[in-house]
Amino acid sequence: MNRFALPIRITSILLLFIAIASNTGCNKAVTSPDPATENTVTTTPTPATEATITWYLVRAANPTADQLDAYNRITAAMNAAVTMYNQQTTYCSGNLRVEYNTGVPTADGNVNGTIRFGANRSYMNQRTAMHEIAHTQGIGTTSRWNQLVVNGKYTGAYALAMLRSMVGESPASTLSADGHSFWPYGLNYNNEWSTVNGQRNARIVGAMQRDGV
Ligand SMILES: [Zn+2]
Repeated sequence: MNRFALPIRITSILLLFIAIASNTGCNKAVTSPDPATENTVTTTPTPATEATITWYLVRAANPTADQLDAYNRITAAMNAAVTMYNQQTTYCSGNLRVEYNTGVPTADGNVNGTIRFGANRSYMNQRTAMHEIAHTQGIGTTSRWNQLVVNGKYTGAYALAMLRSMVGESPASTLSADGHSFWPYGLNYNNEWSTVNGQRNARIVGAMQRDGV
């Protein structure tokens, strides 16, 4: 989770600062260099530590035909969703626990890293999987999320900048949001799905990690 990759050469002041920041456990904080010392620091630009999402499926010891069918569909959906996330952003992470649970009406995702798919096959798709992955990353599931949503709008600077950089969007574009998700690009319904919308979802959710969601 630590995204403070150490530069090759660095002053002791900045090194101390990074150590302190890392010890807080808040590794999503965004800081600016102190102007007084900025030009004395020699660094090599370093990308953020490559974060990736992995996942595993909880399987019954002796699965029924229904369970086997669900496992196959869920596996295809999750593989496609995780691949797209990992291709579009390096700011999302976690080893997600995925379950098939016929007691779940559609599907759900928890910030503890668990995703559950219900029996309805129409939700066993890449769109749903990406939406639930977003919940595991804090979208609609953390107190920080609720802080960032003000009067129905998402206010985090990184995700807004990401949105506004996208073709067809503008500096006036906004992200609507509530206690559950955001839109556009929240992949809240099956009819929102397209490859481009999936890619944009992942990039925005990644930027939301940088906002501290
Ligand atoms: Zn949801």
